[in-house]
Amino acid sequence: MSNEMFGPGTPEELARQWQELEDDKQDALTRIRSEKYNFKEGWEKAILTCRNCSKNDAVVYDPDRAERHARGEGLVQDIWAEAPQAYREKMIGLRTGMWVCEDCWENICEKQNT
Ligand SMILES: [Zn+2]
Repeated sequence: MSNEMFGPGTPEELARQWQELEDDKQDALTRIRSEKYNFKEGWEKAILTCRNCSKNDAVVYDPDRAERHARGEGLVQDIWAEAPQAYREKMIGLRTGMWVCEDCWENICEKQNT
């Protein structure tokens, strides 16, 4: 291994590079946590059925936020600002009863593109 791989190699430079790696790791962890969206105390569970393929999928949600959404106090992207898009789709489905699973969304998008 040559020193060139690590840039100039001064202690300050190495410390900065190390910090960048740490920041990336934190970003990745944050993303993974929000995608999992694990059950929290006081949350409720609902079953959504895909309108296209009739597949069922369970979803957990914060009833307070769902109520705010149902009252029209904000858009789904405001109320679930930190949630991934697939989760927001489920929250819309919960309110409207219209939900299409991710597999079907992909199929629909593919068809539209061809
Ligand atoms: Zn489906």
